[in-house]
This record gives sequence, C-alpha cells and structure tokens, in this order.
Amino acid sequence: MQRATGRRSGSGRRSGSRTVGASFNVSMELLIENARTKLECLTLVNNNSASFPPRLQARVFDILRQHLQTPIDQQLCNNDEPYNWITASLEGTTMLGRAFFERNATNRKSFADCWPHIFKWLKALLVIRDEYDKDGRYSQVLRDTYSICYYVCPNVLEEDEVIELAVRAYMGTDNLNGHYTSEPFIACVAQYGEKMEVGSCIMEKVLERCDITAEDFVDKIVARINRIIAQASSMDLQELNNLIHTLGDAVYLRRSLTRASLRSSVASCLVTTLKTLLDDKVHSLHLVQVTRTVLSCVFASLTFITKYAYHIVEEGILILLPKAASFDADPSGHPKPGPYCESTAISIIEQLRICCVCNVKMVDFCREELEKLYTSNVQFKSLRDTSPKTSGLTFRKIWDSFVALLLESSVLHRLFEMGYAPESGTCANRVCLRLGSRAHFKKCARCTFTLYCSHSCQKADWSSHRIRCKALNDEHLEILRLPYLHLPRKKAAFYINRYRDTIVRLSQEKGILERDLAVRISYDQFPFRMELFDWHEILKDLEEHPDFGVVAEMLHQTEVDRRQWLLVVIRMQEMEHPCIVHVDHKWTKSIRVPPHTSMEHDQVSFINEDGKPFVCERNDALRAGILLAKRYAVEMEKVVWNDSVLSRATEKVIKEFEHELLEDGAQAEVVSTSDK
Ligand SMILES: [Zn+2]
Ligand SMILES: [Zn+2]
Repeated sequence: MQRATGRRSGSGRRSGSRTVGASFNVSMELLIENARTKLECLTLVNNNSASFPPRLQARVFDILRQHLQTPIDQQLCNNDEPYNWITASLEGTTMLGRAFFERNATNRKSFADCWPHIFKWLKALLVIRDEYDKDGRYSQVLRDTYSICYYVCPNVLEEDEVIELAVRAYMGTDNLNGHYTSEPFIACVAQYGEKMEVGSCIMEKVLERCDITAEDFVDKIVARINRIIAQASSMDLQELNNLIHTLGDAVYLRRSLTRASLRSSVASCLVTTLKTLLDDKVHSLHLVQVTRTVLSCVFASLTFITKYAYHIVEEGILILLPKAASFDADPSGHPKPGPYCESTAISIIEQLRICCVCNVKMVDFCREELEKLYTSNVQFKSLRDTSPKTSGLTFRKIWDSFVALLLESSVLHRLFEMGYAPESGTCANRVCLRLGSRAHFKKCARCTFTLYCSHSCQKADWSSHRIRCKALNDEHLEILRLPYLHLPRKKAAFYINRYRDTIVRLSQEKGILERDLAVRISYDQFPFRMELFDWHEILKDLEEHPDFGVVAEMLHQTEVDRRQWLLVVIRMQEMEHPCIVHVDHKWTKSIRVPPHTSMEHDQVSFINEDGKPFVCERNDALRAGILLAKRYAVEMEKVVWNDSVLSRATEKVIKEFEHELLEDGAQAEVVSTSDK
C-alpha cells in the first residue's frame, strides 16, 4: 500500500502537538490517526467530525487532504478498495461542512489549496459513476462540494473546467436510471448573479466542449420533469424543484439556452407540471415550494418574448393561475415581486396584460381560455371555492380587472376589424400636410416613422428630414420600427378621443395650451397611466433621445390645426416609444343606448398621475358593445366570451354606429385597419 507509507511520516510530525488532558480528545486523536490507514476508522471519523472541536477538525482535514493527493492512475480506479478511500475522503470533506471551511481565513485557504485534488477526483470518478455509484454517495459528494465552493471559494465556479463538470454531471448518461446531479449546475449559474452576460458566453463554450446542444440540455430537463410528474402522488418534489430551477437558470442564460427554453414543448411541460401540482391533494411545504419555482420559471420566460405567452396560454395556464395564487401569499398582505405563489401569479397576469395590449391574437387566446373556464360550471365553482379567505385577495382584484380588460379589448379589437376608428396620418412634407388614412401613406424607409402621401412629397422633404433621420442610431431605429407598436398606438388614439373631456379639463388645470398638449401613456401598470405634459419638454432630451427628434420635427412643422394630432409617448416594458396620433372625435360619439342592457360602472382602465380615473360619460361604441355582449350572452345562454356572442354584439354596434353617422350627414370611412 504505497499510500499508507506516505502518510505515516505525516503522523509523526503531528504527534507532538497533541493536547494533554481530556481523555475524549486523546481517544479521538487516536481514532483520527488510525484514519490514515484504516478505512473503518476514516468512516467513523467522518460520521462524527461535525461535532469535533475546531482543532481536531483541522486535523481531520489534513488527513483527508493527504488521501486526496493520491495521484490518479487507472489501476486505482479499477480496484475497488482505493476508490473507497477516495470516496470516503471526499465525503469526509463535505461532512466537515461549510461551517468549518467558512470559519476563518486559514480554513478557507486550506480548502482552496486542496481544491485541485478534490476536483481531479470528482472529474475522474464522474466517468465511471454509473458503474460504481450504486448507492449515490458520489452524487451526494458532488452536490455538497459545489455547495461548499459556492460559499467558501466561489471563484472556482467560474472556471470553464468546473462548469464543464457541472454540465456533464447534469447530463448524466442516456441510461434511464443513470445518475445525474443538477445542483452543481445551479451553483455555477448562481455564481454569475448579475454577470449573466459573461455567464452565458462561458456556458455556450462549455456546452460546445461537451458536444451538447442547448436543445439537448433543455430536452433532458423536460424529459426528467415529465418522468417525475408521471408518478403523480409519489413525485420526488425536491428533485422536481431542482429540475425546474435548472430550467429557470437556462432561461436566464440568454442566447441559445434561452432560445431552447422558450420553445412550446417547454411551456407545455411547465403548464402540465403546474396542473399536476395543483391537483395534488397534500399541500406539503415542498409542494408549495415547487409551485413557487414553476411560477417563477414561467414568469422569467414571459419577460423574454411575447411569443412565449402564446405557448403558455395555449397550454392553459390562465385557468390554473387563480388556484395557484391561493397556494401561498406574502404574509405581509402586500404582494410585491417575491417568491410567493400569489405575487408571482400576479406578475404573470401583468405580463400577459402587456402582451394583450399589443396583440390581437393574444387577446383571442385568452378569451378562448376564459370561455372554457366560465362555461364549465365545475371549473368555475372550483375556482371560487379555492379562492381563500385570507390569501389570494389581491390576486382576485388583479384577476377581475384583467378579465374586464380582456372583455373590453375583445370588443374593441372586433370593432377595429370592422373598420371602426381607423388610424389617420399626415404627410410630413410641410407644403402638403395632407391628412388621410394611415394605410394609404408611405413611410420613410429608414426610420419608418415619417409618413408621406407620395414619392414626390418624400423627395421634396428629404433635405429637411434627413438631418433628423440620420441622427438616429441603430438602437433608436429599432425602437421606432418595433412592429408591436401599431396596436398600442391605435388604442392610444382611441382612448385619447374617448377621454377627451377629462383630458381637456386636466390640461386646463395644468395650464397646458391645447396646441402644446402631449400625452404619456404607460401600459406597464394597471390601471394604465395617462399623463399630460407640454410637448416642448421632450426637446430637452433630444441628445439622449434622437428618436424624439423626428417627432419634434413633425410638431414644429406646422401650427395648422394642431388639435387634430398629438404627440403620444407610449411606455411599455420600461421603454418609451414616441408616436403621433390623430384624433377624430366622431369615433367616440354617443350612440343610442342598446335597450335591455343594464348600465353599470365601466372598469377604470386609465388613471392620471394622481390616481384619478378617466371616465367616459358617453355611451360610445365600445361601451355599447360590452353592454350588448352581456345582454346577448344571457339571451343566447352562453358566456360573454363566446365568439358568436361577441360578433353579434359588435356587428349590431357597427350597424347602429353607421346609421347614426349617416344621420349626422357624415360619411363613414371604410378603411383597412392593416398598417402596411
Ligand atoms: Zn426617416
Ligand atoms: Zn404629401
């Protein structure tokens, strides 16, 4: 036994430092000394080392370190006995625990010094883990060692090799019952913290080195999650939690891993997991914990792309959220972004709401889900029953307002489709300034912001527009070109018309002249916020916001009938998008109150900066549509979310509207709502 001889010299060095006294210590020291040569002594020491005095613990670690310094050779790995020594030594290190290594600088340093040896063995043993690690000791060691690293010498977790081992440990083998460990990967990602951009680069490199695609990596997580939830009542919740945590990390790692995590197969897996958890009868602490993790993962995914919202809504998350929210709530009763199920469910609803602001298809997906929910009495009853007495109250409020907003949007989008309130535009050529349907204008190809009625107008205006247009850098061009802005802009024009009475009153109170008036609409919070300001304010920011320059150019262009158009700044997902909207009061005029509808208070969708609501006093097409839909739902014995109910209501409204417009002698414009 070559190793044993090597160790004996060390024992001689230390024998003189033995503390005289306590017989306990004497016998312990003997035991520790024997741990150099006798495996059963080492095991005994390991099992008790957590309760040793610090001095003895240091001694134990000395011995472990010597074992771990053994060089790797194939002979050793094939032989069962030396492998046992190494495993016991690795195990001993983790059993000393984080507390020991964190205690002082000396201990930290000795761990860091020993790390190359520990790592060398972790790496060597990973290769053969499926054959030898029948009892899962290696997996435990791997898990605990990375955890100690995280607290004691976190820098090593940034090394490519260390990350690579974590990835390989996670991937495991293709064998169904093969071992894998997810915690080391989680520890490495946690180490990046705010430096996620760096982390994502390294992770991509590591995946490449391991010859694993991001899809492979994520598919592995999904397959493992699916395998666990197939066990239903006997799910391994802790492992499930780890897996979903890993998925959440993959989402945050940007680039290929994010892309891989935002596929519909992943969304489907998460929603199915959530459903399985909610169906579980036993509300254990672990169950609540996993539910929190799933919700957080969904929320994280939602913040990346709106397309993800389709996937999860299609999979049916919407009808799961009320129940999930009642799982646990912030005890303070003031949900704020946090780990609790209720606050995360609220954050998810808020993300979905933003998606609904800019996407017709999204509203329709949600509508279909709500139809399912409210049609099935059983489900609706269970929704009400699960709404708890104490927690979930705030969620209910958010849910109710979301549902009301969806109804409003469903009606409004249908009206838009039927040609209601089409968008107008103005030719930017100052000698032309023609006003007309936006769909008929051409856009400046560079900024896509400035509109022209013809090529000749564009040519005539280029010498003046080019200065502002060329000042735009890529970032601002991107903001101006975002395609999802069409609907929010169109809605902004509609709502500004709708609330014009309040807007006029408020602007007078603020002393803003009508020709100076601009509006900032924030879709990031609900009720949405509408602030009035003097558009000259934006001129102060032109250095930083050259995109406002092209808008200012339009505003400077003319003083002619400024009441027809307005600068609107749309705030969405913390970004500000300037746009010009045209107001046309005819679209929000009162129409005849549909008979047999009950007047009720509208949902407050917009407030000003002081929290005062904007209200519409008139029975305009939107309100009439909502009231009629509710009436028809009762008549047709369907829910208001039913497609035919909504179509019937909006068709009736448009008919009535055209009729009244014609009575006024006005000609209803028939324009396409597409914005090409
Ligand atoms: Zn331009
Ligand atoms: Zn023109």
